[in-house]
Amino acid sequence: MNLILLGPPGAGKGTQAKLLEEKHGLKQLSTGDMLRAAVASGSDLGRKVQAILDAGHLVSDDVMISMISDRIDQPDCRNGFILDGFPRTVAQAEALDHMLEEKGLALDAVIEIRVDEEALFGRIETRAKENGGLRADDNADVLRKRLQVYRDQTAPILPYYRDRGVLQGVDGMASIENVSGQIEAILKVPSTV
Ligand code: AMP
Repeated sequence: MNLILLGPPGAGKGTQAKLLEEKHGLKQLSTGDMLRAAVASGSDLGRKVQAILDAGHLVSDDVMISMISDRIDQPDCRNGFILDGFPRTVAQAEALDHMLEEKGLALDAVIEIRVDEEALFGRIETRAKENGGLRADDNADVLRKRLQVYRDQTAPILPYYRDRGVLQGVDGMASIENVSGQIEAILKVPSTV
């Protein structure tokens, strides 16, 4: 089973992806985690993207598309994967369609986690405290920027998938367990695209 979780920063994509990993033996592919690992390792890529991440901007489509394509080819994705943080632009969504077709794979569901933007500020503050401030982009100013980037560049993905009849939404303001239950209900009626 191959899934996409969509939603603004702090919507709970990572939390739900981890639950889906446990329940279904899928692999969470978080492009944000991959980029942060690259920064931490001090690789060429990490040095190039650090300022972009810190400012809350998006890394280029080309870099992200080849990163996710390589990752999907790894053996640990054989049972299926959950895309968390990708695609983030319509160009990435289109490239993903082509890529999956070439690999002989399909998406089983695209799930939007819907949240109230004001509540996200509280959530991001909590995450920053829990992580001891490990993420430089977890603060109110950068969150404001990331939400604007989400509205401008990522939200247009929603009609892209809606037009293809594969977009399903869950109420992300409910408890973690409740959101998980809503997602499980969707997965019981998969609509392969
Ligand atoms: P996330 O952990 O998903 O919130 O991602 C953290 C940051 O990594 C984002 O604010 C972007 O700077 C970058 N990033 C993650 N995924 C992508 C993507 N698919 N395209 C472009 N930039 C990304």
